[in-house]
Amino acid sequence: MCGKIYLFLNHGVYKLDFIINDEVLEEIRQKADIVGLISEYVNLKKSGANYLGLCPFHNEKTPSFSVSPSKEFFHCFGCGAGGDVITFVMKVENLGFIDAVQFLADKYNVRLSQKTENRKEIEKRERAYLANREAGLFYLNNLYKSKIALNYLEKRGIDKSIAMKFGLGMTPISSRGLYEHLLKKGFKEEELLNYNLVIKSSKDSRCFDRFRNRLMFPIIDRNKNIIGFGGRVFDNSLPKYLNSKDTLVYNKADNLYNLNNVARESNRERILLVEGYMDVISLDKSGINFSVASLGTALTQNQAKLLKRYGKQVIVCYDGDNAGVKASVRAIDVLTNEGCAPKILHLPEGLDPDEFIKKYGLTSFEAILNKAMNHIDYKLEIEKKNANLNSTEGLSAYINRALVIIASIKNPVEAEIYIDKISKEYKISVDALRMQLGALVNYKKTPKINLKKDKSFKKADGKNMAEDQILAYALNDEDIFKFIRKNMTSIDFSNPSSRIVFEKMEELYKQDDKGYNIMLDSLINQGLINEEFKKRLNAIPLPTNAFDLAKELMTNIKRWNLIKDRDYINSCIKQAEADIENFDKNQLKMLVGKLYEINKRLKSL
Ligand SMILES: [Zn+2]
Repeated sequence: MCGKIYLFLNHGVYKLDFIINDEVLEEIRQKADIVGLISEYVNLKKSGANYLGLCPFHNEKTPSFSVSPSKEFFHCFGCGAGGDVITFVMKVENLGFIDAVQFLADKYNVRLSQKTENRKEIEKRERAYLANREAGLFYLNNLYKSKIALNYLEKRGIDKSIAMKFGLGMTPISSRGLYEHLLKKGFKEEELLNYNLVIKSSKDSRCFDRFRNRLMFPIIDRNKNIIGFGGRVFDNSLPKYLNSKDTLVYNKADNLYNLNNVARESNRERILLVEGYMDVISLDKSGINFSVASLGTALTQNQAKLLKRYGKQVIVCYDGDNAGVKASVRAIDVLTNEGCAPKILHLPEGLDPDEFIKKYGLTSFEAILNKAMNHIDYKLEIEKKNANLNSTEGLSAYINRALVIIASIKNPVEAEIYIDKISKEYKISVDALRMQLGALVNYKKTPKINLKKDKSFKKADGKNMAEDQILAYALNDEDIFKFIRKNMTSIDFSNPSSRIVFEKMEELYKQDDKGYNIMLDSLINQGLINEEFKKRLNAIPLPTNAFDLAKELMTNIKRWNLIKDRDYINSCIKQAEADIENFDKNQLKMLVGKLYEINKRLKSL
């Protein structure tokens, strides 16, 4: 019967046109009379204040399935199933939370609010993509008219097919060429200013192109949208590279140049982080299809997340000058913070990757790539270079800094090897080094979160917080997601947004774009969660022992659910005792038995 109704629903549609919010859920719960709804599936008989029937979720001969109209709640004392109308539909119709909400909204004529706001947002973004696309095409057409650009590409050995692959372009001769072109295409001045394609003179408020006299590199996302541009000069004028500022569709801290190609072409074994666009393109030309560049910023945490996702081994290949060394050390910190163990490569003789390959060949480049230094060795080396090892104070200071680096090593055997090395090199006893290291490690240890013992959490807040936490960890680490998917169901979660994220995560992990924020944005764009929920998840720190914490959180969530069941059964027992004459003795016995079982399960957690 209900299966038929269901046929008319858009099951599994990817984009929903409505928002699931608290008001909608409240209205559904109010309009859907729980006894009426469940009666469509189960033969219910009144028993005291509640209704009883045979459980639809497990095989039984004596009824242990109870529905409480006052609490708007069902519970089976046989199998432990329980919840509200939405949970019931999820279980009985075998639907996810979102589909169950849609099912009930349809059944009880609850109007789901249209996500007009969201559609406007999407249209705005699409308009920005379109303008960027037009700009990209315009630059591309200019490339073949520009002698200086073609000469430059020829000198760098970049042929037409490579130029096309990266969509290279050239700014027009006129400083208002793009501006005028896009006005003709129907874009408004204000839009072009917003997309950072055009800037306004502060003197006479005349508009002119943001990029002038530059070779243009479109920055393309993994959906093949141009989201911004980088432009390179041909002479020595500064800045050498100019990049789009952040716009509606572009956030340089969340993107890497060439990730669109790497995502498609690389086998994701290695990923090479280089300095500039031209490095990436030259490497690609030589057959190295796993390099990316950060976009005119020091490496950000989100970029580190992307690197980790698209390459098992991250290799940082910056220039060997002072700035390059500094940037490398910073990149190490950002990457290790993300759980990566990066390697560092400085090419000899101050060569860039293109020059190196030209001079020594691709095989030599592969060889030197394989010999890239691990980040601990690299940092020790840098400290050593900066230390004055001839004075006692200098040596002691160096040893201390070296131990701080070694303290960050998680593998104790590896740490021991470094201790041994330093001991031999500077003739310091291993014991003294270990003692000093022990002091550092203890100092750095952060207290482990223990929700069980921390009574300062209120129960309800604690559960919501635990749900947020476990989801944040699972969004950040697919292994954690796999673990919780195996051991939990969306019914374990009580917050609607948590349920949605849990249910959608599998689908999200199947997409090409799997960034933490990308996945959440995708749900926001579908109107399934709101910005506020994303912010809440984003505020959760991601510790290195997230997997252990996730296990603990799961136990806590299950415990809270059992406690909720126990409270419900206790209230039923109280009701039964108050109305003992009308109450079935067998049922009371069953309630007590169930209580015993829940307590046993609670103890075993
Ligand atoms: Zn049951």
